[in-house]
Amino acid sequence: MSANEPPHAARSALKQRALDRWKNEGGEISSVPTARRGEMSAGTGSRKKLIIFDLDGTLAESKAALDAEMAALLGTLLRQVKVAVISGGDWPQFKTQLLANLSPDANLKSLSLLPTCGTKFYQYDESGWKQLYADDFAREEKEKIIRSLQEAVGAEDFATDETWGEQIEDRGSQITFSALGQQAPLKQKEKWDPDFTRRKKIKAHLDELIPEFTVRLGGTTSVDVTKLGIDKAYGIKKLRDILGIELDEMLFAGDALFPGGNDYPVKEAGVVSIQVKNSEVTKRVIDTILACGDGIEHTASREEVAS
Ligand SMILES: [Mg+2]
Repeated sequence: MSANEPPHAARSALKQRALDRWKNEGGEISSVPTARRGEMSAGTGSRKKLIIFDLDGTLAESKAALDAEMAALLGTLLRQVKVAVISGGDWPQFKTQLLANLSPDANLKSLSLLPTCGTKFYQYDESGWKQLYADDFAREEKEKIIRSLQEAVGAEDFATDETWGEQIEDRGSQITFSALGQQAPLKQKEKWDPDFTRRKKIKAHLDELIPEFTVRLGGTTSVDVTKLGIDKAYGIKKLRDILGIELDEMLFAGDALFPGGNDYPVKEAGVVSIQVKNSEVTKRVIDTILACGDGIEHTASREEVAS
């Protein structure tokens, strides 16, 4: 416990206020696979050593920069616990959305970055960010995926009046289809497929055309294709192996934890997962974690949140 940490009673009040704010914003723990009352604070293997966030829709609006409040909250969190960010987005997106907006004195050595669902892994040392590995597609695989995407989208008659930038992006280990183009304004994107109906049809078609690959829905208008079995659970297991942190010592927050969403595999893997509606809700989640002081093991149980 640090010298400037509030005493127990004040910390409980802070925690309660943070929980109330979070609940008011619509926060919800969607998966607490093994927790029973008291278990999460009892240190029975569930002490949280790693807090993991999705990027788009969770830490920031889709493809937008982190705002100042979120950057400050993450800076504080990085001084208390290891943090990882996992996204369908590629490394350049991590740099512009996340890294460019963190404080220059942020504790980056506690941060692990997993672009394209963890098919790439970056860590920081004194000389800068280092790529630990990248699992890229072969050329023939890319060609088949792009052909299939064009066919699936064409078949669904999702012609759009206007697009902004390329619709298909080769991210090395992931091919991403962005229905309105990669530079589309958020306002337009939010209107295009708010309930995922269109993308679920594209996915169903692709699942028939390219069953040897994994297809997931992400962002606001995106469909991501990766090698079979590569999803965020793959990245989570890489975090476990590389950082030596067990799945029950992790806590994940994401905005797409429903079946078919690109955060869902994390929940399926058994990591305690918090569904957030947007980055404002994520801020309240971080508030709550911080209000628990250095006892990340005191992370709220389902009963505390529901009561
Ligand atoms: Mg997301």
